[in-house]
Amino acid sequence: METRIIFEDTEVKTVDLLVIDAHPDDAEISAGGAIAKMTAASKKVAIVDCTRGEMGTRGNPDLRLQESLEATKILKVSHRINLGMMDGFIDESPESLYRVISIIRRFKPRIVLTHPPFERHPDHEAVHRLVRNALFKSGLTKIHTEFEGEEQEIYRTRKIFCFMQSYQFERKPDFYVDISEFQDIKMKAIEAFASQVYATGNENTNEPQTKLSSPEFKEELIARAKYFGSLIGVHYAEAYLSVEPVGVGCLSYLA
Ligand SMILES: [Zn+2]
Repeated sequence: METRIIFEDTEVKTVDLLVIDAHPDDAEISAGGAIAKMTAASKKVAIVDCTRGEMGTRGNPDLRLQESLEATKILKVSHRINLGMMDGFIDESPESLYRVISIIRRFKPRIVLTHPPFERHPDHEAVHRLVRNALFKSGLTKIHTEFEGEEQEIYRTRKIFCFMQSYQFERKPDFYVDISEFQDIKMKAIEAFASQVYATGNENTNEPQTKLSSPEFKEELIARAKYFGSLIGVHYAEAYLSVEPVGVGCLSYLA
């Protein structure tokens, strides 16, 4: 397991949003609109991919790292880190847990965003469990971690949200994010993963076709965003779950 820094803004020490996903491209496909909207509002966002996606039918790990750098720039994310875990075999071993705890303590995110508990890809479900487990342990004083040779402080957040990817959630989403002005940027970030998805210029590749590489995949993503948008009276939206109950300080925040 080798951690690779794909991109970092060294001025940024802590972030508002930490996205932890299984494979490079999961964050863009599922939450690209909400991420772009946060960075446009000058909020800091870090994306941590657990694997390099080396089990993917198309492309190769180096290409996917390059593509994730491209997508990172499009979304204006401050950090993109790849933990180099084994694609297809993400687990909750002490080694995996310590690395995720260290990431959480390093970035002290106000919000953590990850996969939902019920998903098609076993790695997605595994990352959900890993992140929940690491978030709990991140608050324990007897779990010691280091970053750049310094002992890290414990860190807790109750704001753990899940994005929607392959499957519908098992219950109604807890909230929707209006991404109308960021749908185009989201699609550009997804198209940066040209080895994985259908994009202009790669239609005639000799690579095997997958669900992601068909033109229908992008149409489905757009249709879903339009449908979620219709539920809240906007053009495009993304759906989210909250692990813990969501509280608001004042009704006017919802107005
Ligand atoms: Zn994935």
